[in-house]
Amino acid sequence: MGKVIGIDLGTTNSCVTIVDGTNAKGEPEVTVIPNAEGARTTPSIVAFTAKGERLVGQVAKRQATTNPENTVHAVKRLMGQKVDLPEVQKQTASVSYEIVPHTNGDAWVKVQDRLMSPPEISSMILLQMKEIAETYLGEKIEEAIVTVPAYFDDAQRQATKDAGAIAGLTIKRILNEPTAAALAYGLDKRQAEKIAVYDLGGGTFDISVLEIAGGVFNVKATGGDTHLGGEDFDVRLIDKLADEFKKVHGVDLRKDRMSLQRLREAAEKAKHELSSSLQTEINIPFIATGPTGPLHLERALKRSELEILTKDLIQRTIDACQAVMKEAGLSQRDIDQVVLVGGMTRMPAVQKAVRVLFGKDPNKGVNPDEVVAVGAAIQGAALTGQIDEVLLLDVTPLSIGVETGGGVFTRLIPRSTTVPTEKSEVFTTSMDNQPFVPIHVLQGEREMAGDNRSLARFELTGIPPAPRGVPKIKVSFRVDANGILSVQATDLGTNRSQSVSVTPASGLSQAEVDSLVREGEQFKEADELRRELAELKNQAETLIYTTEQALEAYADLLPPEKVDGVRDGVATLKVMLESGADLASIRDCYASLENATYEIAEAMYGGENDKGAAS
Ligand code: AMP
Repeated sequence: MGKVIGIDLGTTNSCVTIVDGTNAKGEPEVTVIPNAEGARTTPSIVAFTAKGERLVGQVAKRQATTNPENTVHAVKRLMGQKVDLPEVQKQTASVSYEIVPHTNGDAWVKVQDRLMSPPEISSMILLQMKEIAETYLGEKIEEAIVTVPAYFDDAQRQATKDAGAIAGLTIKRILNEPTAAALAYGLDKRQAEKIAVYDLGGGTFDISVLEIAGGVFNVKATGGDTHLGGEDFDVRLIDKLADEFKKVHGVDLRKDRMSLQRLREAAEKAKHELSSSLQTEINIPFIATGPTGPLHLERALKRSELEILTKDLIQRTIDACQAVMKEAGLSQRDIDQVVLVGGMTRMPAVQKAVRVLFGKDPNKGVNPDEVVAVGAAIQGAALTGQIDEVLLLDVTPLSIGVETGGGVFTRLIPRSTTVPTEKSEVFTTSMDNQPFVPIHVLQGEREMAGDNRSLARFELTGIPPAPRGVPKIKVSFRVDANGILSVQATDLGTNRSQSVSVTPASGLSQAEVDSLVREGEQFKEADELRRELAELKNQAETLIYTTEQALEAYADLLPPEKVDGVRDGVATLKVMLESGADLASIRDCYASLENATYEIAEAMYGGENDKGAAS
């Protein structure tokens, strides 16, 4: 079995990891793999340029202000989601790219007249993470563990799996993020414990309470706020600075995209610095122009000011923690360990609020930006037998059931059931000689089917003629260790298994995934060609430059017809580069000019030798 990498596919940033080996105690040693820029996390951003290039990560982030409508960020929030959901509507209003409904109502992204599904965009991020690992390890990687929030439902997990398939990665396991964080702390090795995982990232807040005993991870309750994160802290600071600036200079910095972007970067930087210092300087020269000339923003900012500005945001996370504790039937004193995840947990006020709530110091030691990915790598190593197996038993985040008479939702697998799990139900006909039974599978906690999330519809067909109520068809619903549902039906009359064709209410069909995989392969070839062409062009420009220099200096050492030949070669290559000729033509032209330049070199060095011999 090849190596299995761990990937934290985050809303804001992604991180890739691998277990390199074990230490003397047999504990896994995990490496966080740096990207080409040397950073340990990569922005989860994909951009498409006017030239048709696809950019992923830091390069995509860098050009975001100049190409906002073709730069897609936070696509994780759209995974497996319908466009008419209030959260999606909110995101549609706040992002600079277009979110549109697909034919089945799923939220898709429209970039340069091309419609793309969120799994397809996510696959580009996964591919980038895969390539970062391959470059570092010097070998092909085909398998990964990918993490998702504990509350992700079936459609969102399925969408994540599809993203892996499109990227050419087999996702060996979809792991809940809080479970991964607990694994990274080696909490599975200890006595039975109750753990709270407090995860405050760039865009979301998640709180999960887990019970760990004998390597069994039981997510007792999970909650949070999918629209509360570090960006909200930045906005508070931006508004404060912009309001002050407006008061003094009468200019609203938020109205100009460039000024706003500079202000946003400065605010985030100040927020980071205030995690380690009590005061910082904000200094943005030439941020705007006033009636008397350029305006600058200069201001000292105290940690206490940031804390006052964001107090209610931190309080919202604490309220959510209390709600989740209540749901889990636990009091703060019952929690043995608190694990912090996400960059925002570096803020001292956040750490303090958590300490006060749980009455204990949170666990420190693993980088909060990397802890989830580290856990994913450990799970990967356990699956390949590199380290002792860890038995991870997560639970279903929401109840799964079917629609029964009068549109009622009948639960088959209640929420918080440990996975993998299987539940069967016997179905029958309601009319004489009915040839099929329609079944509608849903997920959610509401009592009426219409209020829950539709997962799939299917028909049990080929039922032999019989009076109503006589046929007995057992339908088994199985949720695997990834939290993904599959359905199997058995006709109890004939004992034959019937294949059930499930039409997912969301997500991509297998055919769509297959076609995207093929497209990805084509893209790969096109990407490679484009890179080769860019490199050749670069070499050609260098050759033109050095040849012209050499001609200027040594033309008189060559016979005139040779000089003309080389000049022609240079001119032809220049025309080729400007006219956008193909790779093969440029390569031929490059090779012939290179040959011609060798003759200049021979003449030069031949001349030198002659001089040497004469002296
Ligand atoms: P994540 O989604 O986990 O990558 O978290 C990113 C968020 O953490 C962003 O809002 C960052 O501004 C924030 N963050 C990162 N480092 C720090 C720090 N040192 N102090 C405060 N916030 C930070």
